[in-house]
Amino acid sequence: MKLSDLHRITPARIQALHNSQIASISDLLYFFPRRYIDRSNVLPISGINEYSGSVTVIGKITSIQEIGFARKKRLQGTIYDGTGILNGVWFKGLSYFKQRFKQGNLVSFFGTVKQFGSSLTMSHPDVEDIDASDNSGAGIVPVYPSTNFFKNTFITSLIIQKWVKQVLFNRTYEEYFPEYLLTALRLPNRTDSLRFIHAPQSLTEPAAGLRRFKLEELLLFQLSMQRLRNNRISKNPGAHLTAGKLTDQFLHGVLPFEFTEGQSLAFGDITFDMDSGVQMNRLIQGDVGSGKTVVALAAMLMAVDSGYQASMMVPTEILAEQHFQTLNNYLAPLGVNVRLLTGNQSAPLRRDMLTDIEGGGAHIVVGTHALIQDKVRFHKLGLAVIDEQHRFGVLQRSNLLSKGEHPHVLVMSATPIPRSLAMTLYSDLDISLIKGLPSGRKPISTVVRYDKNRPDMYRFVRDEISKGGQAYVVFPLVEESEAMDLKDATMGFEQLKGIYPDFEIGLVHGRMKSAEKEAVMKRFAAGEVQILVSTTVIEVGVNVPNASIMILEHAERFGLSQLHQLRGRIGRGERKSFCILMTDVKRSKDARVRLETMARTNDGFEIAEVDLKLRGPGDFLGTKQSGLPDFRFADIVDDHLLVQETRALAQQILKEDPKLEQPRHKGLRKVFERYFSAKAQYFSMS
Ligand code: ADP
Ligand code: MG
Repeated sequence: MKLSDLHRITPARIQALHNSQIASISDLLYFFPRRYIDRSNVLPISGINEYSGSVTVIGKITSIQEIGFARKKRLQGTIYDGTGILNGVWFKGLSYFKQRFKQGNLVSFFGTVKQFGSSLTMSHPDVEDIDASDNSGAGIVPVYPSTNFFKNTFITSLIIQKWVKQVLFNRTYEEYFPEYLLTALRLPNRTDSLRFIHAPQSLTEPAAGLRRFKLEELLLFQLSMQRLRNNRISKNPGAHLTAGKLTDQFLHGVLPFEFTEGQSLAFGDITFDMDSGVQMNRLIQGDVGSGKTVVALAAMLMAVDSGYQASMMVPTEILAEQHFQTLNNYLAPLGVNVRLLTGNQSAPLRRDMLTDIEGGGAHIVVGTHALIQDKVRFHKLGLAVIDEQHRFGVLQRSNLLSKGEHPHVLVMSATPIPRSLAMTLYSDLDISLIKGLPSGRKPISTVVRYDKNRPDMYRFVRDEISKGGQAYVVFPLVEESEAMDLKDATMGFEQLKGIYPDFEIGLVHGRMKSAEKEAVMKRFAAGEVQILVSTTVIEVGVNVPNASIMILEHAERFGLSQLHQLRGRIGRGERKSFCILMTDVKRSKDARVRLETMARTNDGFEIAEVDLKLRGPGDFLGTKQSGLPDFRFADIVDDHLLVQETRALAQQILKEDPKLEQPRHKGLRKVFERYFSAKAQYFSMS
């Protein structure tokens, strides 16, 4: 059957369907209703009033008329249901609705009513045509989403409903899931699921049907990730990396502190993995300041101890330079050769570096993306650490690792990622959590303040600095406008110089050369500068334990995770630290939630959960590079329990049947292979 066989189809309508991503009958079947009208729960018009909340009524259209003049012109459609009359009013789309409604048609209105005297009005109700010939009366009516293309050709929900019925009932659909899974998971089969969704007998059926498709989609995704991972592992038996003299010296001599319990546990996982004979693929999750870097460092030393090289890739040059400094400080005394590789180094330096890396003289290489260029060849790479700010998605990561070398892989998250997201984004990795912060950290007090509080704030900052503290003042990056951004920070800088003529104040922004930036930061780190004004360039890195105040100007403009990341710059030393969120009295609701969350908790995982709720997964991760798969039915946040379930399930299935060769997995294998090669198009072939 083809789209052109549908009842009352026209070429224009076929085009409208195409434009709405419905190119075949099966696309139509996977075009699901957005809600349902329960006709047994429709209220009589005589029984509703202003206080009824959202209600559905069904009636016949008795009149359609334009009323009012000029700008106040509106369309009023009146319906009668035998008990009373109700007016629907439209201020927009008059001509569309005028054409669409015909006197005598049976329709439903969904919305809240307003009462004017004795008359009832719904403004812009959600309207659906009701099939008058369908006398079942009490059925549940699916309401399909509408697109502008549909509107242009008057494809209404009722028409889609009829089309779907035309195809739905005269066939069954191939079932890919093995019987044992359907039973174990209490899933309806494909045929039933589609019926539950398009023609439910009760309001619980659609959810049961939808669960099946979500689960299917997530399971296929998890299977493909696990398989990628298993392939990689079976092809690349990992080198045996074990701790030796360097690691020992580092942990028990050079490092001025002991690992926290969280760090020890994560390091234990790594130690186990790297000596297991199987390639490690592990993510370390930990809050800002939980001490991920030193754990990675110890792991890299294990590689060096075992005669291998290690690399650490980071997303920005500043961060690369900073990690390089840290590593060098610790490791130079041990005679470990650490090198820094970035994109903008001089040709001779670069040549020397490449030789050093290829010859094996370089033990540890820190760098940006430049590290994965073709020209960089390691002598014997045993461990690749990726310090990412959720920058690399699943696929990029696996590309990155298929570049000839097959090192153990350790990924560090820059800020905590909610479990639900981590399960998807890092579905091919094992996860270690570093819980808690190093002891001795004093919790940071965070407050929200307004312009009227400035005098108090300036006094407070003066007191703290007089007692030996230091302060950051950070201005947000104004979207798309580095110039504006600069202006804010520069003005703030000038203003502060006026307020504190006796203090040294520094300015750092993205337009400065990195040498200039570094010079200012160094003076701040050395305590020669007391107040550092900056744009968000300080977000990553910088570690100045003496800094005890962070003032975030226009705090409402920062994202929540970013606020938390910035706050992580203080509270690193002996001093009690304070984070002051300066903001306008007028804030959006989202902004209020962000600031309140910051004031309420220091727990990065809790903050990440809130942030994810506010922004959704795409924005949380930084849309374009998020590397998140595009799920059609599942929502990785709302459906995180299913994500978890399918992850475990995929592991189980592949453990019992690594290549899906068992007869019972025949269907699953078929759809999986389609998914694996065509990715996500598998359902268009039902
Ligand atoms: P992050 O997890 O944010 O990358 P870092 O690795 O930058 O954290 O560590 C933050 C700071 O805490 C660094 O100055 C580091 O030296 C220090 N640190 C790390 N581990 C410990 C520990 N166990 N005890 C005390 N300080 C630690
Ligand atoms: Mg870090």
